[in-house]
Amino acid sequence: MEHLDLYEIIGVSKDATDAEIKKNYRKLAKEFHPDKNPDAGDKFKEISFAYEVLSDPEKRKIYDRYGIKGLQEGADGFSEGNEFFSQWFPFTSMGGGHGRDARGKGAQIVIKLEVTLEEIYNGNVSKTVEYKRTSFCSQCGGDGGPKEAQEKCSHCNGMGRKASYAFMGLTAVETICSACHGHGNIIPEDLRCTSCQGKGLVEENVKREIVIERGAPNMLKIPFFSEGNQGLQGFRGDMVVVLIQAEHPTFERRNNDLLMRNININITQALCGFVHCFKHLDGRNICISTNPGEVIRHGEFKVVPVEGMPLRNNPFDRGDLIVQFSIQFPENHFATPEQLAQLETLLPPREPFVMPPEAEEVQLVEFQPRDEHDTRGAHGGMDDDEEYEGGPHFERVQCQTA
Ligand SMILES: [Zn+2]
Ligand SMILES: [Zn+2]
Repeated sequence: MEHLDLYEIIGVSKDATDAEIKKNYRKLAKEFHPDKNPDAGDKFKEISFAYEVLSDPEKRKIYDRYGIKGLQEGADGFSEGNEFFSQWFPFTSMGGGHGRDARGKGAQIVIKLEVTLEEIYNGNVSKTVEYKRTSFCSQCGGDGGPKEAQEKCSHCNGMGRKASYAFMGLTAVETICSACHGHGNIIPEDLRCTSCQGKGLVEENVKREIVIERGAPNMLKIPFFSEGNQGLQGFRGDMVVVLIQAEHPTFERRNNDLLMRNININITQALCGFVHCFKHLDGRNICISTNPGEVIRHGEFKVVPVEGMPLRNNPFDRGDLIVQFSIQFPENHFATPEQLAQLETLLPPREPFVMPPEAEEVQLVEFQPRDEHDTRGAHGGMDDDEEYEGGPHFERVQCQTA
């Protein structure tokens, strides 16, 4: 399994761009789709697996650094490790967070905790995470039954672990022997501990209080050493909480800065001045305004110094608030021809214009975006996440027939 090269499966080099990976994947997926190529066996699944890893920046990074094992065990705060793997390798016993490493230490537990931007901005917020972990069964002390009744497990020859064959015809991950649950020995069914069914471990619910630090970065990993699963040798793995910053309707966070897009002002405000007020993340009402004579252009950025996120290590200092303006233009026929002539006297003069000889005058009508699904053939529903690549993204324009 470790020598399985996902880049080779997709047919790209290690430094391939996302677009190259996507392109090759599509080509291969079409070629090896079971509908078209029923004899290709697991090839399609193999391609899909490789693509799922390489098209996800987080999974790709972990794969590059730690290989397949990293994906399986959830390295670097990759919380879906077990879940992700068991989807692809349903025959192994890695799912459900019961994985244990070779030293009998319980597997790390990673918990994603969603926090709001307000909570990060204000800090000192207490949150409770609830999770399940394995612990020694109190009834049998982790042995699964009376010690004297133990017999060597014939399925794994007393090793407790088995190489498991998943798809791809390759030796997949080494997994815990499902017959003896990793003990290496088995207790006859009628003598097994009734509380853990001979597993030696039971699942327990645990609660842990976490205080959200002011200015904590997105994806911050907060480790709790030896608070994860207990392994058969008694050692506990770690528990890690990963802070996931929720999207905010008004602000986007850019490290220590905050970005506020699309502050809508109309053309009069853009030319003649305005005051715009909004609620900040701590509930303060903040008002921004232009200086007399200042013109705001469409899409323009302005900065409000030190109204961004508090700095994590220096909570009294803050990043900046960046604002971007969107200028609303009036509707058609908002003024009479006489009024327009009057308006023109105030505005900059028109660009000089000379009609070239033999010019053709054509019609200019409203833009109608094409229905994407019309033009792109039947892909068998494989590409639902596909976006219009390269082309500009147009807002829907209302049809206006005059
Ligand atoms: Zn027990
Ligand atoms: Zn066994």
